[in-house]
Amino acid sequence: MGIVELKIKGFKCERCNHEWIPHNIKNEPTVCPSCKSPYWNKERKK
Ligand SMILES: [Zn+2]
Repeated sequence: MGIVELKIKGFKCERCNHEWIPHNIKNEPTVCPSCKSPYWNKERKK
């Protein structure tokens, strides 16, 4: 059928839940493009 499910890696902000796909997955963004938080990939401590 020529149909394939593609898995695309992206980032998700832990603060605002914004999801985005970077141009280069190897370059982690320093801030979330939505809320500009530098802690977008840091989980909140319980
Ligand atoms: Zn964010």
